[in-house]
Amino acid sequence: MQLRTSFRTKLLLLTIAPLAIAQLVTLVAVMQTVQSDVRERARESLVIGANVVNEYLAARAEQLRSSVTVLASDFGLKEAAASGDRATIISVLENHSRRVGAQMAMLIDLDGQSIASTLSGSLEETGPVLDLIKSSPESEFESTVAVADDSYHVFVVPLRAPVPVGYVVIGFRIDDSLAIKLADLTGLNVTIVAEDLPTTKVIATTDERLAAAGNLGRLTRRPGNSDLVYTVDIPEEQSLTIVSRFVASAPIFVVLQRSLHDAMLPYVEARSGLLMFAAVLLLLVAAASGVLSSTVAKPLRSLAGAAQRMISGDYDSAVNIQSKDEFGELARSFDSMRLAIAEREQRISHQALHHSLTDLPNRENVRLQLAGALDAAKTGCSSVVVLSIRLARMDEISSTIGHDAADELIALAARHLQVNLQAGDCLGHTASNEFVIILNDHDVNDARAAADQITAILDSGIALDRVTISLCAHIGIAEYPSHGHTPDELLRYASIARTDALQNGDPVCVYQPGREEQFNYRLRVVNDLRSAIVGGELQVWYQPKAHLPAGVICGAEALVRWHHPEFGFLSPDDFIPAAEKAGTIMHLTRFVLREAIRECRAWQEADQPLAVSVNLATRDLLDEYLPYHVLQLLKEHDLPASRLTLEITETSIMQNLNQAMLVLECLRDMGVSVSMDDFGTGHSSLAQLRAIPLNELKIDKSFIMTLSEDFQDQAIVRNTIELAHSMNLRVVAEGVEDEATMRRLAEMGCEQAQGYFLCRPIPSVEVLDWLNAYEPINYAERRGSDRAFG
Ligand code: C2E
Ligand code: CA
Ligand code: CA
Repeated sequence: MQLRTSFRTKLLLLTIAPLAIAQLVTLVAVMQTVQSDVRERARESLVIGANVVNEYLAARAEQLRSSVTVLASDFGLKEAAASGDRATIISVLENHSRRVGAQMAMLIDLDGQSIASTLSGSLEETGPVLDLIKSSPESEFESTVAVADDSYHVFVVPLRAPVPVGYVVIGFRIDDSLAIKLADLTGLNVTIVAEDLPTTKVIATTDERLAAAGNLGRLTRRPGNSDLVYTVDIPEEQSLTIVSRFVASAPIFVVLQRSLHDAMLPYVEARSGLLMFAAVLLLLVAAASGVLSSTVAKPLRSLAGAAQRMISGDYDSAVNIQSKDEFGELARSFDSMRLAIAEREQRISHQALHHSLTDLPNRENVRLQLAGALDAAKTGCSSVVVLSIRLARMDEISSTIGHDAADELIALAARHLQVNLQAGDCLGHTASNEFVIILNDHDVNDARAAADQITAILDSGIALDRVTISLCAHIGIAEYPSHGHTPDELLRYASIARTDALQNGDPVCVYQPGREEQFNYRLRVVNDLRSAIVGGELQVWYQPKAHLPAGVICGAEALVRWHHPEFGFLSPDDFIPAAEKAGTIMHLTRFVLREAIRECRAWQEADQPLAVSVNLATRDLLDEYLPYHVLQLLKEHDLPASRLTLEITETSIMQNLNQAMLVLECLRDMGVSVSMDDFGTGHSSLAQLRAIPLNELKIDKSFIMTLSEDFQDQAIVRNTIELAHSMNLRVVAEGVEDEATMRRLAEMGCEQAQGYFLCRPIPSVEVLDWLNAYEPINYAERRGSDRAFG
């Protein structure tokens, strides 16, 4: 809307304003030129008119004078005057007047007395004429005189018979007919005025308004002009004026006027026509620009609407502009853009929900589909199972056949999985070598069967370039509603179950309720372990070992402790297995080794030359740098290798026997003792361990703790000790909780004993105090309390 208004306004302003201004300027210029031209012409016509009037009046005066002269020389008149025949005089005067068109004739004697008059002859009428004659220095003259209400142009000539006997006076009334005559001659307004200071009286005029006013105000002689030119104030009249004297001797003037209004009249009409034309033109232009602006604004509105629809995600409606002009072209370009964007948007949203390699639904898409499946299952009270599948050994395969081939293999595997799906089930590709299957309306048993089928298919091998590659997969299963209720829960539980499957070495594992907490706990513990080592949350405690039968302390086992800021005191069993699985155990081992060797050196310096035992994890046995690291530490603390014993377990050594053997041999060559911990809990017999480079056998506490009661254990322990001795191994018994067991072991020939009876594991700072306070007992010396052993 904003656009339209401003666009219209702009267009209107841009078209109409310049036009209006141009027209106005032209009109003003033309009218100004016209006005000055009209004024100039009027002035010229006035000057010409004044000349014409002067000429005319002069000619007329001459004619009238000669007619008066003729009358004065009339014999009859002279005679009648001489005889005083008044009737004849009047008759002559009247005849003559009629002949020359005079309205007044008089005969006046030399004394200035009226003899005869064509008027009534009353003094009121003759008085002004007599005054005129008396006041005139000349006997023959021309003048004007006002008689009663009329003014006359009078000629006075002496009557001689032959000596002067009087004056003949002939008067011509100055009236409107004269004014009209002059007006006809000049084409101007004519007013004849008598100056009667301070005003000017109108005698005759062609101007009705002046006739009505009867007064012209004051005549002012215009400076610098000829005697004839005066200006005259005519109120409310826009006119040019010129004034001429009617006769030289009298204050009577002919005022010629040219009304500017009249002069302008034809032009004023033309101006109105011009204004009308301009108005019409402006209206036309306004209408045209209105039409133009709506022609422009309409397609623009359509385009703006289309853009708005696109913003709101509607790519289906085309722009509706059919014209063949630029707007049509713009609309077509816009439409192609719309289609291109729609196509790209579709592609992008497809990519956002599909895996680029297999074009299968990706994790987000799987979540959405699972949500839909769960909604349906909730209303239909059915169950949904989620299978989380991970192809194992893909890194290995990829480094053998190359990344591209590995990708192709994964795509082929996906196709195999898809082919075996039932209608309504969904296969998603959630990570490079991970897939998810959603089975609608199935339970855990169906899922197990499907998982078995999948592992069988993958195991049977996938043909890639004439090579068949067998794939191994781990599959975790989670079920709605027994395990979880939301897509996220089910996907997470299925993946926890899959991790369990991997760790247990099983192909398929169903989620165990509660596993998530353990999983999370383990994750936390594993994540926190490294910072715990650096942050000093880990400590190493020591549990002394006594030599049998003398009871002298000969060593101690290093046992790690973790005071977790959130979980509190953690037993090694709580975090060692997790650290082993996560691969962070090596950091822990190195920490304990450093601590134990440093502490052992400190004991030596305190005159307690004990040996120290450190536990190794499965992973440590795969660490080919471990012997080097141990050597470095021993050197650093200047401790003989014989003081160190490393405890390993049967299961850990069996995981990768060859690699473990290399590490162990290396350690034995360095002079470090190797002890087989927890002996008796594994499946291997001593004979099977013959190949392993061992120095010590540590009988598991489960046999020792019950030794005093369990005769079978006594037999096992006795046989084990004998067999170990036959293999040149020293024997340590752990878990000794009473003196009787101590004595029994001493009697069986066991070299060392460790257990709560002697001492619980204690912090390093307490070790020396404990050693100093310790008093050895010789367990070979018989005492009364030992009689229980048979
Ligand atoms: P282990 O190597 O068999 O350690 C002996 C365990 O038995 C210790 O438990 C010790 O406190 C306990 N024990 C000692 N004498 C007696 C006794 O008379 N009666 C009973 N009931 N128990 C006794 P702890 O310290 O909880 O250690 C548990 C396990 O954690 C160890 O078993 C060992 O496998 C592992 N571990 C401890 N520290 C480390 C370490 O620094 N590195 C590695 N890799 N493993 C460690
Ligand atoms: Ca141990
Ligand atoms: Ca043990």
